[in-house]
Amino acid sequence: MKEVVLLAGTRPEAVKIAPVALALADHPVLRPVIVRSGRDAGVVEQSLRSFGLAATVELDVPGRTGGPAGLPARLVAQFDRVLHRRDPAVVLVQGGTTTALAGALAAFWRGIPVAHLDAGLRAGDLAGPFPEEGTRQLIARIATLHLAPTDDAAAALLAEGMVDRRIVVTGNTVVDAVQRVAAADLPARHPDLALLERVLDERSERLVLVTVHRRESWGRPLDRVLHAVRAIVDRHPDVRVLLPVHPDPRLRAAARDALGGHERIVVTGPLDYSDFVRALRRAALVLTDSGGVQEEAPTFGVPVLVLRDTAERVAAVDAGCAWLVGTDPIRIVAEAGWVLGSRLRLPLGHNPFGDGRAASRVRGALERLVGLPGDFSTASLPLRIPC
Ligand code: UDP
Repeated sequence: MKEVVLLAGTRPEAVKIAPVALALADHPVLRPVIVRSGRDAGVVEQSLRSFGLAATVELDVPGRTGGPAGLPARLVAQFDRVLHRRDPAVVLVQGGTTTALAGALAAFWRGIPVAHLDAGLRAGDLAGPFPEEGTRQLIARIATLHLAPTDDAAAALLAEGMVDRRIVVTGNTVVDAVQRVAAADLPARHPDLALLERVLDERSERLVLVTVHRRESWGRPLDRVLHAVRAIVDRHPDVRVLLPVHPDPRLRAAARDALGGHERIVVTGPLDYSDFVRALRRAALVLTDSGGVQEEAPTFGVPVLVLRDTAERVAAVDAGCAWLVGTDPIRIVAEAGWVLGSRLRLPLGHNPFGDGRAASRVRGALERLVGLPGDFSTASLPLRIPC
């Protein structure tokens, strides 16, 4: 057997590698091994569990200790020990996190090919999103295989001089993930979500789902967003808000201070992925600064207002599935009013990020990367997704 190490340090990494791990689960030669760094250990485990998965290796690198240089240094050293012990055929990293960079560096220095999932996302400005934009570019320089989610991402990689035959357009595995979990249609686990669903049904009210967690939003931008959320609920008496908050205590405190006590606003901790997908599916509107949520929402035709000034997921904006509104409360309230007032719903089945078969394309590309003979037709399928 040849091992494929899949790294997850944060929740979106866990969600996006999960379909790949499942696609490799029955492989006759490639064995998926999930390694999680200690960063967001709780939410990573929570996300993996929603797919019936768990990490095989758990690194002991807690939270955000050690500052911007200390964390990657500790991660690289620990990954290196894992790679030395396991000698995998490939290391697959996702996105632009510190975990992904550390894993890619450790593998690169050991001469192990790096496969980069979600490669080629570019905002075009090293200053924002910081440090993801730079981290993604650094990983691209040392990756052997670029698994680009869209044609635009592949074009960005080509423009930076990456070799064409090393780029495979796969679609985004998050679409596989969201489709799979939605199809399972598990009942709500979190009691607050179960109660909220009952109330929404009984009163024929609508749900606005809000997530806001990015570092660049912390402080004043976050306060402005939360202020806007309260104003939206006050202006729309048939609307309830669900805000699952990231575990960071500063975010929790800000949410509690701004929204606590409002009878039509429910603030919870992070939801299980299956619960989150349930909420997303029935939402009338999503307000988010999350990249992953922007990629998931079009599967259910839910309009998204993106609480950022720039976005590297331009496909959603270009396709008319999402609108960049920034963090100005006046703008957020006005745009939300437009979506809610017009009862806007987007066409179903047109997710510009993927068709739900990305993981099988990734599997084919990995087979080819490690030199396995066989049918690689799935890896070479051209992917053109209309929206
Ligand atoms: N998510 C989740 N539970 C929650 C909130 C989000 O499972 O309470 C999922 C969401 O569906 C998406 C991912 O977490 O797949 C997004 O993670 P996050 O917003 O932390 O990161 P980003 O996408 O901005 O990198």
